[in-house]
Amino acid sequence: MSTLYFHIPFCKRICTYCDFYKVGATTLIPQVVETMHRELDQRCGYLSDRRLSSIYFGGGTPSLLSPEQIEGLIAHARQLFDCSAVEEITIEANPDDLTAEYVEALRLTSVNRVSIGIQSFDDRVLQFMNRRHTSLEAQECVARLRSAGYDNISIDIIFGVAGFGDEWLEATLCQAIALGVEHISAYHLTVEERTRLGLLTRRGEYTPVSEERSEVEYRMVERMLAEAGYEHYEVSNYARRGCRAKHNSAYWQGVEYLGIGPGAHSFSGDNRMWCISTAKEYSEGDMRFEDETLSEVDHLNEYVMTSLRRVEGIDLAYVASRFGEREVERIRASAQGWIDAGVARCEGGYLFIPTQMFMMSDAVIESIFA
Ligand code: SF4
Repeated sequence: MSTLYFHIPFCKRICTYCDFYKVGATTLIPQVVETMHRELDQRCGYLSDRRLSSIYFGGGTPSLLSPEQIEGLIAHARQLFDCSAVEEITIEANPDDLTAEYVEALRLTSVNRVSIGIQSFDDRVLQFMNRRHTSLEAQECVARLRSAGYDNISIDIIFGVAGFGDEWLEATLCQAIALGVEHISAYHLTVEERTRLGLLTRRGEYTPVSEERSEVEYRMVERMLAEAGYEHYEVSNYARRGCRAKHNSAYWQGVEYLGIGPGAHSFSGDNRMWCISTAKEYSEGDMRFEDETLSEVDHLNEYVMTSLRRVEGIDLAYVASRFGEREVERIRASAQGWIDAGVARCEGGYLFIPTQMFMMSDAVIESIFA
């Protein structure tokens, strides 16, 4: 099985912390969507397995597309791929795009999961992040989706934001839990150089939270969501039983995917390909790509990284059969220090990081890379 991704690189307003590729020229959307249809026709053969398990609209801000444009792309995909086993079709959305009218029209499409970029339920934090919505709008849009019949809703939360005291995160988590959403992605704020936040930091107008504070907040997220019944199944992702994100889980399991749109990435098992056209070039039909072929070391490192970020960890029997027994020995030896320190565990044929130690995952992964 494979997955399909549509990248919608448009944003009406730029968030303080964001360094993703995005553009503000929303007038280009109709031509970009037109080129996406052409790209689908031209590149559907990239996938060796034409059976899809999920479709995902990410960005940028996919909710800037009309529900008709979204359904048009899904309908086109149905003509090119076997979609009989597609269980999940997700759209990322900004709360203020999810008006009553939009939600009503979206419900008529095949989209069955909505992932909302809420980030915080504190208006001061939202303003600092330069988000377009308020806390109240965020709560209202979840209620609107619920009454329209959506039973698979995910929200994004950002923690590790300095300057707003110690209580806002707890209040935000309480609100997220009270809404009863099926899935929560919780990310630590990072300061990227080429962002407004990077500039504020260089000017001394923003000081990132200390490591100690990061740890306190990480543990608060983990404890509160666990107590509320969410399973911590990946470093940044929590789900109610049976509600793990199918599309993202497929990425982490090394499934093939086709990415359509300016900036989108594709993966076919041995090849990785990405579109380097700007949105303007793409809107004019100019599709340019770069690609790379993955070596055995790349494959192994990718497997180590995606596995150790998940609760299941590295399947050592799989490593032995795919990469050889020597790699298993090397991984065990590299992990021993972490195991002795209680940061990693090796049990039942799996090497994994207990969820309470997930915040150390980057260091563990780096030390185990081939
Ligand atoms: S809406 Fe998302 S992609 Fe757009 S600027 Fe904000 S964080 Fe970045």
